[in-house]
Amino acid sequence: MFGRVLIANRGEIALRVLRACRRLGISPVVAYSEADRDTRAVHLADEAICIGPAEARRSYLSAASIISAALVTGCDAIHPGYGFLSEDDAFAEMTRAHGLTFIGPPPEVLERFASKAGTRALLAAHGLPTVPGSKGMLRDDDHALEEAERIGYPVLLKPSAGGGGRGMRMVRTARELQQAITICRSEARAAFGDDSLYLEKWLEDNHHVEVQVVVDAHGNGIHVGERDCSVQRRHQKVVEESPSPALDDERRAMLLDTAIRSVVAAGYQSVGTLEFLVDGNGDYYFIEINCRIQVEHPVTEMRSGIDLVAEQIRIAAGQPLSIRQSDVRLDGCAIELRINAEDAAHDFRPQAGLVERYLAPGGPGVRMDSHLFTGYEVPPYYDSLLGKLIVWGPDRPAAIERARAALDELIVEGLVTNIPFHRALLRSEPFLDGSFTTNLLDRIGAAAFLASPNG
Ligand code: ADP
Repeated sequence: MFGRVLIANRGEIALRVLRACRRLGISPVVAYSEADRDTRAVHLADEAICIGPAEARRSYLSAASIISAALVTGCDAIHPGYGFLSEDDAFAEMTRAHGLTFIGPPPEVLERFASKAGTRALLAAHGLPTVPGSKGMLRDDDHALEEAERIGYPVLLKPSAGGGGRGMRMVRTARELQQAITICRSEARAAFGDDSLYLEKWLEDNHHVEVQVVVDAHGNGIHVGERDCSVQRRHQKVVEESPSPALDDERRAMLLDTAIRSVVAAGYQSVGTLEFLVDGNGDYYFIEINCRIQVEHPVTEMRSGIDLVAEQIRIAAGQPLSIRQSDVRLDGCAIELRINAEDAAHDFRPQAGLVERYLAPGGPGVRMDSHLFTGYEVPPYYDSLLGKLIVWGPDRPAAIERARAALDELIVEGLVTNIPFHRALLRSEPFLDGSFTTNLLDRIGAAAFLASPNG
């Protein structure tokens, strides 16, 4: 096992990784930007090292600064968290070239799954149904028009290097398509440094259901059930839960089984997530894989009792899985609410500033993963995630009850948050009956929830 691990991330995930290190007897070192000097992870680490200015490009995205920091502090591995360099195969390769271990998939595995279009083809060849779409990347406008015609409108243009719901465009007609390609390419180039695009059939009413997998370096793989992330805004998740209300037991078993078998056969390694869209008939279609620990992993931890970050670290150290599929028990229902510094009443405008008072909820089945404390200054440079409130209950109604009570206990003062939005959502019809689909929030708008008489 590693002696010292450098945590190259910030916010709640830096804290989460630090806790896993403590559990495994590893000494945690935290790499921070100038904007994150006074943070919980820095306070709790055995050592902390500044890796550059607030601007992520010169700190959390600077491979050279991070690797130097790991070497200077005597670390033998780097945990990238999520976002930033967590799925960057060049960074993983550079880490290895300096005699350090990247905690995640090995560089060649990251490279194999780097392109979304390529991964679609790879996993389809290993038996996963995919959304009908273009065969590989779009070469030019004519190729795009041809493929869109074959698939049938509406279609969704997607950047092959995409992530975080950015750069996607729904297109209804051939006329729209040409213009959309130009915009989409330039957005993809700016966001990901890669402008390759592919097409998928646009599925209007679907659930987003994803499968958590854990695969060691010896070819042993297990799934740890699914999560439903259908409450989304602009293709970004707001609430996640498990089990998915969109699947019956038979479909669920089939989905979980095909997901784990295909991803092991395709040579995946580490913790990871296979994402699917599920239509009204319960048919599922693979959309992408995330080769990292995800924001919503605690939902699965609450149902299974498995520490996914500890498993991820053990796998990177070459250890075989400590659990077999038959040992995985998934109990009750878990729900995660992302608590964001954003103003739902004003188009979810991001907020920054001083947290004047912070009090976390508690009690049985309640977990708050957050880096906040009273007096913490939320910087304007990064994402708006303040923390995650995760609840567990023996069934879905009980979990919703707990989520409501926990939200009432949670105090974040000094800046506007999306807590009022969550309160309203937890009383809304489509959430209560489990029929929430991925495009619903964008279609009806947050105001519909905030203004609801029960909200
Ligand atoms: P990203 O990598 O940017 O997160 P994904 O491919 O994972 O993009 O898709 C994110 C979300 O976009 C999905 O959860 C879903 O809400 C929506 N989406 C993706 N593909 C389709 C599709 N073919 N039809 C309709 N919605 C889609």
